[in-house]
Amino acid sequence: MRRPFIAGNWKMNLLVDQSLALAKAVKTAAGQTDTVDVLVAPTFASLAGVLEVLKGTGVAVAAQTCHWEPSGAFTGEVSTEMLKDMGCSHVIIGHSERRQYFGETDEWVNKKIHAAFRAGILPIVCIGETLEQREAGDTFKVLDAQLTAALDKVEASTMPSLTVAYEPVWAIGTGKTATPEQAQEVHAHLRVLLATLYDDSVAQQVRIQYGGSVKPSNVKELMAKPDIDGALVGGASLKADSFEALIHFDQ
Ligand code: PEP
Repeated sequence: MRRPFIAGNWKMNLLVDQSLALAKAVKTAAGQTDTVDVLVAPTFASLAGVLEVLKGTGVAVAAQTCHWEPSGAFTGEVSTEMLKDMGCSHVIIGHSERRQYFGETDEWVNKKIHAAFRAGILPIVCIGETLEQREAGDTFKVLDAQLTAALDKVEASTMPSLTVAYEPVWAIGTGKTATPEQAQEVHAHLRVLLATLYDDSVAQQVRIQYGGSVKPSNVKELMAKPDIDGALVGGASLKADSFEALIHFDQ
């Protein structure tokens, strides 16, 4: 019942021409499947061009972050209303790199989720534990705190259009992937948490992506797990052939 959702986070990579070329390749690859939802998240600099290339194709386009205020004196920031105005359908919120390098807190993540829904944009909310936290046995405690804070006062009725991305920090860009069993254990746990915070229907509808060194060689095994509904992919989304293989994981 949950459609697989494969998303590419391009981070601070690719010049405009390179982004447009990759978007064209994604358009072709996504056109060859009707079983998987596909999304790309280019830099702000390439967003307008990528939106133009992917217009009407069904490939969703996300910003990598946003501000929670609709407008104002927030130099360098972009609001969810502005993203909506451009044609973005989604926004990634709370990526661990934003938390680690730009001081993004759980409170900000929560404000950004509300701002996304206010503007009619769908949030992809990232949570994840560090290696230190995992080794201390605190994985579930950390994830529960992050997700509970992120979802404060978020209505049950909007939850099915929110995506959670479980991204263990130790697996992002490191080449280390959580085993399918490790990821499934966490995803199942998060679904129980969603049922506790909301109800079983919400828990069954929310898609939970796994992120952390997903690549063509491990995507099948990960996606075979019952609670893994998709992937948020960094490195392997930057090359047309590897992202295409991820989009076609079920073929
Ligand atoms: C990410 O950017 O969210 C990510 C998971 O990166 P990578 O696939 O490179 O680990």
